[in-house]
Amino acid sequence: MKTARHYVGGAFGPAPSDGTAIRTFPLVDPVDGTVVGKVPEAGHETVDAAVAAARGALDGPWGNTGPEERAAALRRIADGIEARFDEFADAEAGDTGKPRGLAATVDIPRAIGNFRAYAELLHGRPETSYTTAVPGWSTGTGKALNYTVRRPLGVVAVVSPWNLPLLLLTWKVAPALAAGNAVVAKPSEETPSTATLLAEVIDAAGLPAGAFNLVHGHGTGAAGEFLTSHPGVDAIAFTGESATGAAIMRKAADHLTPVSFELGGKNPALVFADSDLDAAVDGTVRSAFTHSGQICLCTERVYVQRTVFDEFVARLGERARELTDYGPMISAAHRDKVLSYYRLAVDEGATVVAGGGVPSFGDRRDRGFYVEPTVLTGLDGRARTMREEVFGPICHVAPFDTEDEAVALANDSRYGLAATVWTRDLSRAHRVAPRIEAGIVWVNCWNLRDLRTPFGGIKDSGIGREGGTYSLDFFSEPVNICVQV
Ligand code: NAD
Repeated sequence: MKTARHYVGGAFGPAPSDGTAIRTFPLVDPVDGTVVGKVPEAGHETVDAAVAAARGALDGPWGNTGPEERAAALRRIADGIEARFDEFADAEAGDTGKPRGLAATVDIPRAIGNFRAYAELLHGRPETSYTTAVPGWSTGTGKALNYTVRRPLGVVAVVSPWNLPLLLLTWKVAPALAAGNAVVAKPSEETPSTATLLAEVIDAAGLPAGAFNLVHGHGTGAAGEFLTSHPGVDAIAFTGESATGAAIMRKAADHLTPVSFELGGKNPALVFADSDLDAAVDGTVRSAFTHSGQICLCTERVYVQRTVFDEFVARLGERARELTDYGPMISAAHRDKVLSYYRLAVDEGATVVAGGGVPSFGDRRDRGFYVEPTVLTGLDGRARTMREEVFGPICHVAPFDTEDEAVALANDSRYGLAATVWTRDLSRAHRVAPRIEAGIVWVNCWNLRDLRTPFGGIKDSGIGREGGTYSLDFFSEPVNICVQV
């Protein structure tokens, strides 16, 4: 049986004083629904202890580290994950049910990359920059030497989801530590294992006690809410559902705690008739069905120019029916939610081109939380299935005629995370991409990422940008020091 552990103030296990210390909940394997472990549920006492430990680290040795020491610490963490690569990949595939190959090629390498990237990015970022006052720009009299120092925010709460557990956790933990903050992390209750391994790696890497703390538990009315509404928390970095972001923000408002939010999506793809249709079909199979659609960047709405619509739908449907090596939904509850959208879509008038139900494998997976990769057509833009994030292997394909219509359809959403444009016409690509209301627009590709680029969503898909120096900016405050000379 797997056992997840809290990591607070450099020690593993629940805080002894926590009245709820012995509370645990089961860890379920989504592949066959069996209970494979138990997870401790942090109560107020454990969360309080973690926040206090983080504050103590800032007041102690961690608060006195310079960027070089922090970069070295991040490199040791990256090396530590790499040294235990197989354990991490097994744990990630075990918790999520995703094919191990996906964990081994995407999740774990990216987690290592997150720490390496921020170790490097600190080099290109001196913490002090000098400027002299320019006549005409000054108020008051006299000349001054102005310089800017960046201070860490303090205690940062990191709350992450289950779909890319280690990747998304470390995407925030690495820059938060790089900028000199102390972190209290709460991973999803569904996927606690790689976070526990990460705490072991960080412990072995010799970070001062309290620089990184880990608490497990649920969100609403539990560890997640205790942490994000805690008065001792100076900033919140959250990835998850838009509604959860709104709930966290309401509580954060009490303490004016700054937030960085990566939230939901209902991402469009535009396929123009002049595109390389093979590439567009291949790309859409990946963008709709990778990790069974449980990636925030996955495409759920595809708009195809009418002259190639029938061919595209036929080919995408065929490819969806051929998929066999895919993982389950994370939980029975999420499986039921996705299936309810499959049924709703039919009630709303959809034509099911492929999938639409529960697959039968003839093995233990039949007890798990699988749903079929599903392609739909026939819905209009008002259908709930077209407006709400399903977060499963579902995509709806609709036709369009003109470029303007395509852009309008793409933008007809409360979300604005990512979009894809498939065209061979360069001018069209550059005309269309900036008009799409999304934080990331891919042209003739999907999920090609450079960690230095800004990452985030507009509208209900997020607040702020992460990635590269954008994360370092969020996790630190610039302070102007003005010295009269
Ligand atoms: P979720 O919002 O249900 O949970 C995310 C985390 O928040 C979990 O750790 C959970 O315990 C915690 N939480 C829940 N309620 C809370 C509360 N009231 N206060 C504090 N913490 C709380 O999301 P999920 O189901 O784990 O993940 C799927 C969602 O995440 C989808 O909407 C997806 O689009 C989004 N997502 C976005 C990105 C991005 O980068 N934009 C990346 C991955 C996932």
